[in-house]
Amino acid sequence: MNDCIIVGGGIAGLQAAIQLGRYSAYDILVIDKGEGRSTLCRNYPNILGFPEGISGPELRSRGRKQAEAVGVHFVEDTIEQAQHQEDSFVLTGKSGREYQGRTILLATGLTDRYPDIPGLVPTLGRSVYVCPDCDGYEVQNRQTVVLGAGNAGANMAILLSERTEDITYINHEKSQVDESLRSQLKEKGIVYAEKAVKEVLCKQDGIIQGVLLEDGEKIEAERGFIAFGGNKVHSELAVQLGAELEHNHHVKADPRSKMTNVPNVWVAGDLGVHSELTTVAMGDGVTAAVWIHKALKSMNENK
Ligand SMILES: Cc1cc2nc3c(=O)[nH]c(=O)nc-3n(C[C@H](O)[C@H](O)[C@H](O)COP(=O)(O)OP(=O)(O)OC[C@H]3O[C@@H](n4cnc5c(N)ncnc54)[C@H](O)[C@@H]3O)c2cc1C
Repeated sequence: MNDCIIVGGGIAGLQAAIQLGRYSAYDILVIDKGEGRSTLCRNYPNILGFPEGISGPELRSRGRKQAEAVGVHFVEDTIEQAQHQEDSFVLTGKSGREYQGRTILLATGLTDRYPDIPGLVPTLGRSVYVCPDCDGYEVQNRQTVVLGAGNAGANMAILLSERTEDITYINHEKSQVDESLRSQLKEKGIVYAEKAVKEVLCKQDGIIQGVLLEDGEKIEAERGFIAFGGNKVHSELAVQLGAELEHNHHVKADPRSKMTNVPNVWVAGDLGVHSELTTVAMGDGVTAAVWIHKALKSMNENK
């Protein structure tokens, strides 16, 4: 039996693993399926100590080594089922393996929705972004293209107009844009097109040069954003364990401890209340780990 099982070895899960491992007192297991937002992002430019930025895969690789060095174990599996059994939790993986833990930290994150447009993935986090709080700075006074759908894309383009006057919004899915948003796009001088994108044109280093539309037209761009709406929050395991969700499917937790309403089940990172920043995921992970430690210590004292 593990003292704590961390489901999700992304930023939040790894930071929690490092903190928990450093108590030198517990068996900690991280179970990860090898996907996630941090596997996609080519550069985080807003983290303390990394003025040039650091990629998600590099941060994960360093984090895993750091956690392993303090005795944390890792398994590659996809957890499909979670249940409470007396004073422990049993998780079942896609592999058929069962894992038992006294406490659980859910750090399964979310998945951004975006269509399979050739050339898009290599640009993500490098020159095409998802989060205006993280990367609005990167489009300052730059020729920017927003690839999106309906109102979600329109809202992103309007928000980014605080940063640059040169924006084209391509409504790739040709979905409904409300009249009030259409007027704002016009007011702010945002070029609007309802056309599918055939390809994102980029250099080898992931720097976007523009997009090729279905009708053969090329739109030049130095930077881009995607905003298709409908992200998928991976809250299934939390629901199986009885955790309460916000209206937007993120998992509710005590703000101080990050414990959910289910005793001994914690949440950290993008799965928790909507923040979606790497540094917040780290903060959540470390906070949850401190409180998991307090809980384990008290369980051991009351044995
Ligand atoms: C393109 C892009 C650019 C970004 N840029 C920035 C930026 O510049 N600055 C910034 O601060 N943030 C940025 N972000 C956001 C940042 O990546 C996330 O906030 C961060 O990754 C959240 O960490 P997390 O641990 O919650 O989730 P993730 O890093 O997504 O990790 C979740 C982990 O859970 C695992 N998992 C999920 N379900 C299961 C399961 N059932 N069983 C086992 N494992 C499971 C996945 O394999 C994954 O490893 C960006 C995101 C994207 C996509």
